[in-house]
Amino acid sequence: MIESYIKHLESNHNLVIHSEENWTVDCGICGENINMGDMVFSLDHIIPASKGGTDTPENMSITHPECNQVKSDLSLEELVEKMKLIVSYQESKL
Ligand SMILES: [Zn+2]
Repeated sequence: MIESYIKHLESNHNLVIHSEENWTVDCGICGENINMGDMVFSLDHIIPASKGGTDTPENMSITHPECNQVKSDLSLEELVEKMKLIVSYQESKL
């Protein structure tokens, strides 16, 4: 399980090993760097568990906690549509 998860990380995140304790991955939602040495990250179900997504490595993504909170139980497509609405509405108020 751990080996398949590491393979998944290497293929789905920009995994950079700086040293044994200091390695980074790109957040699966926003793409910004996460310093894994800080141990502040969240695991996102790419297809939400509430919509039948599984706990397999292929369906899990490392994210910032705040990004995962925003995504909630939306699919990535639903998140994009929601963000478009939010951006459009907020820009209309500027
Ligand atoms: Zn993020």
